[in-house]
Amino acid sequence: TLSDRLTSVFSSLRGKGRLSDADIDATAREIRIALLEADVALPVVKEFVAHIKERARGAEVSQALNPAQQVVKIVNEELIEILGGETRRLRLAKTPPTVIMLAGLQGAGKTTLAGKLARWLREQGHAPLLVAADLQRPNAVQQLSVLAERAQVGVYAPSPGNGEGDPVQVARDSIEYARHKQHDIVIIDTAGRLGIDADMMRQAADIRDAVSPDEVLFVVDAMIGQDAVTTAQAFMDGVGFDGVVLTKLDGDARGGAALSVRQITGRPIMFASTGEKLEDFDAFHPDRMAGRILDMGDILTLIEQAQRTFDEQETARMAGKLASGEDFTFEDFLEQMMMVRRMGPITNLLGMLPGMGQMREQLNQIDEKDLDRVAAMIRSMTPAERQNPKIIDGSRRARIARGSGVTVTEVNSLVTRFFDAQKMMKQMRNGMGIPGMPGGKN
Ligand code: GDP
Ligand code: MG
Repeated sequence: TLSDRLTSVFSSLRGKGRLSDADIDATAREIRIALLEADVALPVVKEFVAHIKERARGAEVSQALNPAQQVVKIVNEELIEILGGETRRLRLAKTPPTVIMLAGLQGAGKTTLAGKLARWLREQGHAPLLVAADLQRPNAVQQLSVLAERAQVGVYAPSPGNGEGDPVQVARDSIEYARHKQHDIVIIDTAGRLGIDADMMRQAADIRDAVSPDEVLFVVDAMIGQDAVTTAQAFMDGVGFDGVVLTKLDGDARGGAALSVRQITGRPIMFASTGEKLEDFDAFHPDRMAGRILDMGDILTLIEQAQRTFDEQETARMAGKLASGEDFTFEDFLEQMMMVRRMGPITNLLGMLPGMGQMREQLNQIDEKDLDRVAAMIRSMTPAERQNPKIIDGSRRARIARGSGVTVTEVNSLVTRFFDAQKMMKQMRNGMGIPGMPGGKN
């Protein structure tokens, strides 16, 4: 497995200080094989690996990780980035109903997905309507009606299907019906074929033109591997789509199709389907998919641990700095905040220091959303201001507020909070000293 192979690369590299070209090449080779084994399309693999090598060459030497681990970390980060970084949400129409159209091959899982998506949206307070516009496949209408009932949502199925009726007309009429019945989201299930087929594409394009969907979702079976690329390309050309849904991720497919489809069409993967039951469905998580494609959970965990240990060393360094009597600056404040965020509950190390408990209280009072704003404010300060916050006067505060998109009041409150923290640090130092720390009394 990749884990084994990389482990042996690691052991030969252990102890080396920096990323040499040979290290990068050796790791890149293993990554390349892993991606191909995960069914990522060759052109995508080539482009990706070239990009990784370039980034690895420019990477700073890490103190926390050995070179191979560092490359893997970069690969993982890049995969997450390419797989979507930020997960895109459904775009809702300004004037309801929002129209979502599903497209994909027969057997991809469209009808099942329609039910899952409807249930998911209903749980979020929407009133979805499922529309049976697959009039081809025997019992498709019936299948959708059963799903609608299970999902406890409305269904629009005026035609018996089984080859009868006009799917374009059904789709068009369903919008009026939804408006009348106050459904705010319409999900249109369409017919697929076993392979790419001009008739199918034309029908899907006609439905698209008839209802002008807010989102066309391309539904693709993760198990079809390399074929996903040609299929995605054909649907992109024939119908066009805004987002991708990967199905059958409960199977043993490594999910390389996700990466290929994302790269080749430039469309985000929005949802993942992981089983036959209605609940087997979730928004797509790029980090989980990256781990799956690389198939090296253990190594990623190891890397995380190494990084964590390194953070602890940083914490110790910070504590040492405080004990040595240097002034506590905004740089330190930001660094501590980021550390608290990364580590969740702060390490024992900080807990052991008198006064640090209080400090942590202070930092914990800043909630996640605030953290971003505080970080933005500190980043809008000049280095001189961070080192010597006393110089931050009214006009500087106004500039910082403008630069970070917050109000001056927020900057004022941050500065006040900072001076409190600094005072606390001083008291701590001048008081009993810090037991067990270099420079402190025991
Ligand atoms: P459609 O032709 O695109 O509408 O596909 P269907 O929704 O009818 O699904 C085809 C088959 O795949 C059905 O037997 C579904 O139960 C099954 N299926 C759909 N999604 C998933 C999934 O995420 N995991 C598994 N294991 N099976 C699925
Ligand atoms: Mg179907």
